Parts: sequence; C-alpha cells; structure tokens
Amino acid sequence: MKPLFKRFAAVCTFVLLALTAPVFAQTQNAATPEHGVMVKDIDRSAKPGDNFFEYSNGEWIKRTEIPPDRGSLSVFSLLNDVAVKRTSQMIEEIAKSNPPAGSGNRKIADLYKSYMDEAGIEARGLSPIKPHLDEIAAIHNRKDLARVLGKALRADVDPLNNTNFHTANVFGLWVAPDFSDSDHYTAYLLQGGIQLPDREYYLSDSEHMQNLRGQYQAHVAAMLKLAGFSDSDSRAQRIVELEHAIAEKHWSLAEDQDVHKANNPWKQSDFAAKAPGLEWKEFFHAAGLDKQAHFIAWQPSAIAGESALIASSPIETWKDLLSYHLIEQYGGILPKAFVDERFEFFGKTLSGTPQQSPRWQRAVNNVNFALGDEVGKAYVQRYFPPEAKAQVQTMVANIINAFHKRIDALAWMTPGTKAQAQAKLDTLYVGIGYPETWEDYSGLEIKPDDIFGNLWRRSVFEYRRWVSRLGKPVDRHEWCMTPQTVNAVNLPLQNALNFPAAILAPPFFDPDAPYPYNYGAIGSIIGHEVSHTFDSEGSAFDQKGALRNWWTQADLDHFNSSTAKLVTQYDSYHPFPDLSLNGQQTLAENIADLGGLAAAYDAYRAALTSKPVSDQDGFTPDQQFFLGYGQSRRDKSRPAALRQQVMTDPHSPSEYRTDMVRNIDAWYQAFQVQPEQTLYLPPDQRVRIW
Ligand SMILES: [Zn+2]
Repeated sequence: MKPLFKRFAAVCTFVLLALTAPVFAQTQNAATPEHGVMVKDIDRSAKPGDNFFEYSNGEWIKRTEIPPDRGSLSVFSLLNDVAVKRTSQMIEEIAKSNPPAGSGNRKIADLYKSYMDEAGIEARGLSPIKPHLDEIAAIHNRKDLARVLGKALRADVDPLNNTNFHTANVFGLWVAPDFSDSDHYTAYLLQGGIQLPDREYYLSDSEHMQNLRGQYQAHVAAMLKLAGFSDSDSRAQRIVELEHAIAEKHWSLAEDQDVHKANNPWKQSDFAAKAPGLEWKEFFHAAGLDKQAHFIAWQPSAIAGESALIASSPIETWKDLLSYHLIEQYGGILPKAFVDERFEFFGKTLSGTPQQSPRWQRAVNNVNFALGDEVGKAYVQRYFPPEAKAQVQTMVANIINAFHKRIDALAWMTPGTKAQAQAKLDTLYVGIGYPETWEDYSGLEIKPDDIFGNLWRRSVFEYRRWVSRLGKPVDRHEWCMTPQTVNAVNLPLQNALNFPAAILAPPFFDPDAPYPYNYGAIGSIIGHEVSHTFDSEGSAFDQKGALRNWWTQADLDHFNSSTAKLVTQYDSYHPFPDLSLNGQQTLAENIADLGGLAAAYDAYRAALTSKPVSDQDGFTPDQQFFLGYGQSRRDKSRPAALRQQVMTDPHSPSEYRTDMVRNIDAWYQAFQVQPEQTLYLPPDQRVRIW
C-alpha cells in the first residue's frame, strides 16, 4: 500500500532495501532460537552452485506464507515487525502513563489517540479538509493557481533516497548540502504531480499497465464521488490525462539517479525564462522562498515541461487534480469509505495485498513517521545497549580497514586517486544506533481529537524547519533515519553512514552468534554502505561531500568496463517471461552488494587470524559467512509486488542479490561449485571492481 506520507529526509541515499511491502502488518518473530546459521531453513536438496538462494532459504520459503495483508515477506519486513511490536508496546505504555502536558511523550500519546479516534473521524467527515478544498475551488486565474501551488509546496522529496523522486504536489523541495558548496544547505526543486509510483505506469503500453491505468481512473472517480464531486467520471478522465501529460515530462528513474545531470543551478530570477508558464514570483512568495536566490533544478526539462502544462492545461482540470491529490494524500485518515477505496486500489490492485493491516498498526506507523525521533529516544533506551554498539563499531572499523587494503592493492587505480579514496575513508562518519542530537518537536501542536490537523501541522512544521536551514552550515552528523527504522544508508553529501538500532538485530546481527555469520549478514550490509562511498555516484563526491569527480579518466574507463560486465550479468536475469531485471537501473546497488560482500569477507578473514572459530553444525567458517549473507537476504514476494520492485526499485530482488556470491572466488571453494552448475562463472567472467 502506498504510505500515507513519504518519509522525507535531508540527505538520505541508497536505502539498502526499500520496504516495498506495506509496512507494519501481522506481527511475527524474526528472531531465531539458533545463533548463527539457521540450519533448519537450509534446503539440502538444492545445490549451492545451482541456486544459492534456495539452498540457503529453501525450507524457510516452503513453510512461510505471505500474510494476506502484504505483498511480500522478507527479513526486513520481519525485523520491521519486531520494531513495530516494540514501538507499539512503548506507545501504548506511554499513552497509559498520562504524560505531562507539553512533554514529548504527551505528543506521542495524543497523536496515537487521534489516529485511533474512528468515531470522531466518521463524525467529522470531510469537514477538516474542507477549508483546503475551498481554497482550491476559489482559484480563478493562473495567479491564484501559482499561489495555491506555492502554499502547498512541501519538503517531501529526497532524490538520493531512491524512493522519493516525486511528490504528489506539482513540485517538491529538498533542502540539502549544495553540490558545489557542501558546507551549506541549499534548495533543490524536483518534479512531481503524479500519484502512480513512476512515469512508466503512465507510459508503458504493456497490457498489464493498460489494465492498471483503467483501474486507476475508476479509483480516481470513486474518490471524487465519495467527496461529493459531480461528474466524477469525466473529471477523473481529465485528471488522469493531465497526470499522463506530466509523466511524459518526467525523468526516468535511471536519469534521476545521475547526479551529474542534476547539478543545474538556477537563480530564482531564471525560472521565468527557463521554465515559462507558472507565475514563479507568486509561487515562491506563497512558498515562503522570496529570499532564496539560488536553487538547483534536479530535472530541468521536467520542471520546464510541468510549468508549461500549468499555463496550457485548463485551470478547471488543475483544480480537479489538486483536489483529488489532497483527498488521496489524506485518504488514510478520512472516514472509512475513503480508507477502504484507497486500499482497494493502492493496496490490492497495485501491490497485490489482499487485506488491510489493523488500524492500531497503521496508527503506530503514523506516530513513528510523524514523531520519529521522539519514539526513537525511548526505543534506544530500551533496546540498544552500549555493548551492542561497541561490537558493531569494531566490525565497522575492521571493514573500513579491509577497504583501505583493497584500495592499496588495486592495480588499476592511479596513486593520486588512491590517496583521495583513502582520505574519504578517513573522514567518513559512521553513525551506529542513533543520532548525536534529537529533533525538537516542542513547536508542533498535537491534539488528541484532530488527526487531520495534526498531520497537516506536522507537514508545515517540517517544511518550515527545512526552509529555516537554507544558507546555514551543514551538520554532517545529522541522521536521516530514526533508530527504529530497519534500514541503512549512505549520505554522500555528508560523507556519512547511518545504521539505525533496529537493523542491528538478529538475523542481521546477533551478539551471541559466531562472528563469521555476523560478518556475512550485517558485515556485508555495512560493506555495502561503505562501498557506496566509491561507486558510480560515490566517486562523484569528495571527502567533504562536494560534487567533484576525484578520479582520472583512466580510473573511470576501467571502472566503466568492469561495471558493464555487471550490467550484463543482471540484465540476464528474468523473474518474469516478459520482464527482465534492468542492469543499469540496479547498477549502483549491485556494485555496492559486490564490494560490500568482498570487504566483509576480508574483514572476517582478518578476524580469523587472531581469533579462530570452529565449525557450526558441520559448516566451516567460510560456509557460515556465505550462509549469513544468503540467509539474511531471504524474501518471498507475490508476483505483483515483485513486478513493482523490478520496475521501480534500484535494488535487485533478493534472490538475485544473493546470486552475487558467484563473483567471489572463495564461495566456489567453500561449496565446491562445479563448472556445469547454474551459477558457475569462469574466473575471467567473475566481476571484480574493488
Ligand atoms: Zn545501497
């Protein structure tokens, strides 16, 4: 299901595994009574050299059923359940404790209560949203339109976070370190204006997509009808046509990810000439950005194209589109008829999820999103002891050391480039568990009987918070994720990594497991994120986070020829007869998987020289390492969810991420892989980048 709001972070990037499944549903225990390799999950009838994913996880796949309220199930979603269970227990306890007025815990309690207030939500109907719909209805000319669009601008996009390339608003604001002056925050403007996940949903002529578009238009009509709009069918047709026109102007996901195409500094005074159509002066004034002279236009042609559409498409159609987007954006907290209709399309049809998660879980999700740091503070106090932090910090140091050695040993990289790579590793900030400072919500008003108002005020609060940072110095230790998030990120503009507490748990990290397993599981994830420091985008940012290519042409040529082999390798995987993986779209993530796995292996081998480890259940330490990798990537997806991931996610599906082991020589020795086996690659075809 489409999340109610998109997570907006300052400078996130390269999410390890986007949670494409509807977040937070049925609670299951991801923890295992075993420590290390989960022997009962191995399918011994599969040969590791034919299908390592099935060998590692086959028994788990056979006995696991995807809950009806989900599109897929993975370690991430199961661990997410653990985090949700913990946070929901905390939130309930906090609510019962009747926290003092004005405290952070009071806000948590009141926000939760307001989401659970179903009777109040039914009784109020559309009245909370009505003033905003009236404002749209009162648009009479292009100037009014520009003002309403400017007022609706939100800091809800994050182009480096892979999943947030567009906003429901026509444009989205991203406040982040300037590409050219990474010591200061600047304003990035991004494309927006569509509701389906990506432009391909509007433009693809496959039968599947054509059917989906028909169902989408019916859904738009249904939402408008519920909201009391006349002629909902014809309005829906015009809205979808306008979204289609917008999608034609949009950049593709692959283009969006190319930061070199994105560094387009525009002065505020340039917009009228470079993107004529929208009355920009009015727009920026309403957005509170009068004084912001400098912008970076991430997708200039899309911004120009959308601006032209604002002038050329009928005002009435724009009004309908804005009304529909507003209703859709807040549909999850409107009366039940809206919630159900929204789930029918975005949950069932689009993601293949048969059943909606219970309301209390959606409420927890919402509190986690809206007051993330407040919940995070409580989470860390209970669930992330200092010993766990120290153990992970040791692994991080060993993996960074492995990268130092790998860089030293590279035959192809020129000495000057090597020195800069080492400098980048030296200044890398690795955040473990939780941020150094917490977000302050004291200026945000939360009422126990006003869910719409709470979320509206929260979006304005966040927007103003980001706008207030424009031109100010960058805090490189700032986190972009909450501690209770099951994910990990690399932030190239800050030269920093975040590993939230919630991902530092079994089966990714178990303080009681033999360390070969931990290095294969969480170690390869840490390595994945460190490796982003050097990949096709990391090579574009220097040790201070400025957009400056620090490689020579010869370095780049070798890198590109190595990565071309990886593109071909991933293009050759076919999850569906009519759909293969896109090796280019997934390249950056695949390189990170490869580099991370290789460095984690080195770090584990280095640990082995000083601290020998015995076999576990007949598995050698090397086998434990690779099984840690394979088992921590387990996943089971419904076809619709898998299809959506293949089309929109820069990460390859789990099975193919696991297949990365075929590029590592030690894996062949560990499992005696033979040339006739499916995953076998002759040594000269194994991809070696780092
Ligand atoms: Zn990544």
